[in-house]
Amino acid sequence: MSNISIISEKCVGCKSCMRQCPYGAISMKDKKAEIGENCTLCGACVEACKFGAILMEKDSNNWQQSGDNYSGICVLAEQFNGHIKAVTYELLAKAGELALSLKTKVSVILLGYNVKDNAKALIAHGANEVLAVDNIMLKDLNEEIYPELITQIIKQYKPEILLIGATAFGRSIAPRIASALNTGLTADCTKLEIDSKTGLLFQTRPAFGGNLMATIACPLRRPQMATVRPKVLKAAEADSSREGRIIYPEVSFPKNIKLRILETVLSDSQKINVADADIVVAAGMGMGNIKNMKLVDELAEVLGGAVGATRAIVDLGWAEYSQQVGQTGKTVAPKIYIACGISGAIQHLAGIASSAYVIAINKDKDAPIFKSANVGIVGDCLEILPELVKSLKKIKESKVKIGA
Ligand SMILES: Cc1cc2nc3c(=O)[nH]c(=O)nc-3n(C[C@H](O)[C@H](O)[C@H](O)COP(=O)(O)OP(=O)(O)OC[C@H]3O[C@@H](n4cnc5c(N)ncnc54)[C@H](O)[C@@H]3O)c2cc1C
Ligand code: SF4
Ligand code: SF4
Repeated sequence: MSNISIISEKCVGCKSCMRQCPYGAISMKDKKAEIGENCTLCGACVEACKFGAILMEKDSNNWQQSGDNYSGICVLAEQFNGHIKAVTYELLAKAGELALSLKTKVSVILLGYNVKDNAKALIAHGANEVLAVDNIMLKDLNEEIYPELITQIIKQYKPEILLIGATAFGRSIAPRIASALNTGLTADCTKLEIDSKTGLLFQTRPAFGGNLMATIACPLRRPQMATVRPKVLKAAEADSSREGRIIYPEVSFPKNIKLRILETVLSDSQKINVADADIVVAAGMGMGNIKNMKLVDELAEVLGGAVGATRAIVDLGWAEYSQQVGQTGKTVAPKIYIACGISGAIQHLAGIASSAYVIAINKDKDAPIFKSANVGIVGDCLEILPELVKSLKKIKESKVKIGA
């Protein structure tokens, strides 16, 4: 670990370091600087001290000096109710591309119960090897057991890159794994590529509220870790003739587990997951109040779609966080996205870019959402939605009659 200390004999008590410290981590005692526990080792004070009174010893224990040999791209598979989540296949396709650039193999870590068929499916989707742990204790996604076992497997197999889906579970365990491995993690990447000069993984993600894209590298630590949201990447077709190995690494389960999953209950909004739906009807502040949300629910129901939401209305409690679409919510890729009373802020648009067809309803003809829409309806949602529902119901009923 890096370390910082004050050389008391050199400190003249000028307080320059105090003024420079962005974390308020320096205080003065007997006219000498003292560094507190909230120091983040950012190094700003070292440059500020003209008397050379602050000594910072940088951690030189990087992966190259450790003598360990890291190679291969590893994907963490996520399952729910025994099914591999689509994001795993999306990551596998990207891992295959990265592996071509680095001339290396792709492995997948698969934890669960009765995992053999899923291991084969992962091989069909591009894995050269599956590192599987098959145990009844892994039937549910336990946030205490999973990171511990994954860390053990990473320490044994030493991949140079580890990719994880930015799902609710992935977002929860990725930082724990990164912390246990003492490496870096870039969350919510939208682009991953290998730098041809250095062979490093360049991880690009939106920064500063989506106003610019930041490309991040992790040169000193291994593995290089990134999470990617569902639907940002495209999965490859399965090829059942592909061959690969299933390996069962030795792991020891943590003792004294404090977290037990008693039951998994899906919320109503998760029954049709907004991220998987072919039709999404999304609501924004233009719906006026929570009572009017029933208009959006009705339209989604008649179309057999899911209800999405902007962050503004999630913050107000009109919809659940699991329904939020956008930079800090879900990325969706429906065939039809209907935006009702949504202005089209850049953070919202970040989540709908992969939609095939966007219909926007907004009172304001200059609303930015219209620039991203295939069809724009200038008008009041509260009047248009009931009319739409009525017409669609009529069409449905007449089809049923014809069918009968
Ligand atoms: C770091 C960061 C992350 C963020 N992440 C997200 C995110 O993931 N998802 C997200 O959505 N936002 C996100 N935001 C918030 C985002 O910037 C916007 O504030 C938000 O998307 C606006 O929501 P809105 O369109 O519902 O509301 P508003 O911007 O208030 O727009 C309401 C719209 O409704 C229209 N309208 C009003 N009445 C009617 C009516 N009766 N009929 C028709 N139209 C009507 C108005 O003309 C207006 O265009 C984030 C912001 C930041 C800073
Ligand atoms: S800037 Fe240097 S000399 Fe001045 S108080 Fe801080 S440590 Fe002491
Ligand atoms: S290293 Fe950074 S956080 Fe720590 S005392 Fe210096 S300026 Fe403050």
